[in-house]
Amino acid sequence: MVQNQPKSKSISRVKVITKHYSICICSSLLYLAFVSAVFAEPVKALHLVDLTHSFNQTTIYWPTSKSFEMEIVHRGKTKGGYWYEANNISTAEHGGTHMDAPAHFSEGRWRIDQVPLEKLIAAGVVVDVRSKTKNNPDYRVGKSDFVDWEQQHGKIPEHSIVLLLTGWEQYWPDKKKYLGTDAQGDAKNLHFPGFAEDAARFLTKERLVASVGLDTASLDYGQSEDFRAHQIFGAANVPGFENVANLSKLPAKGFRVIALPMKIGQGSGAPLRIVAEIY
Ligand SMILES: [Zn+2]
Repeated sequence: MVQNQPKSKSISRVKVITKHYSICICSSLLYLAFVSAVFAEPVKALHLVDLTHSFNQTTIYWPTSKSFEMEIVHRGKTKGGYWYEANNISTAEHGGTHMDAPAHFSEGRWRIDQVPLEKLIAAGVVVDVRSKTKNNPDYRVGKSDFVDWEQQHGKIPEHSIVLLLTGWEQYWPDKKKYLGTDAQGDAKNLHFPGFAEDAARFLTKERLVASVGLDTASLDYGQSEDFRAHQIFGAANVPGFENVANLSKLPAKGFRVIALPMKIGQGSGAPLRIVAEIY
């Protein structure tokens, strides 16, 4: 028995070592399998669509607003031999692709820097009303247009970003066609579609949307004098995106909107970079 003890110890040590190696080999194989699986999986490319017009001298602004200006501070080689570019810019808040903060038409509501990110990054839907606006630049997109959309695509989910495709982008950057007038200061002869009052109530009260947007210069149609849609969306703390681009490149649903305005302290509006990620 005494002689056998070391033998049995040695056997059990061999068993332990063998077991240890087995675990090592198994772990290595698992690791290799995992690594090859990860690398074999093709990286899913994001399908992104830029919904933003560039800011430059052709950017369309409200007739009573200052336009975009860029002054070149330096563009060229310096005495030190290296290249250097820098510019000064100035712009009204409301022009080009931009965001209206709820405070724009509603006292006490969020200003640009107070709007929570949850309102700006959310699932989106596109409501195509081009057949209605085609021969009517003063068309107001009503509740019935959204109800029609829902019959085809299902209920607009709560906390969505609802985007209107009126087709007005086809006129950008021709001010006369896009706004109805190209006269500086003329806010009386504006003609383009927008949200009707009943649509603004429906989207804010019955669908609890996060934000809204469209491819015209204003949430309200051009001939509006009381800006009811702005007032209703603002009162409900719903931001609005105006002069949005490339909406015809999006599906009716199945995408996420990422809309990040310049964070202007106490701003009523701001230049906006808005993109969509199609799922
Ligand atoms: Zn605006």
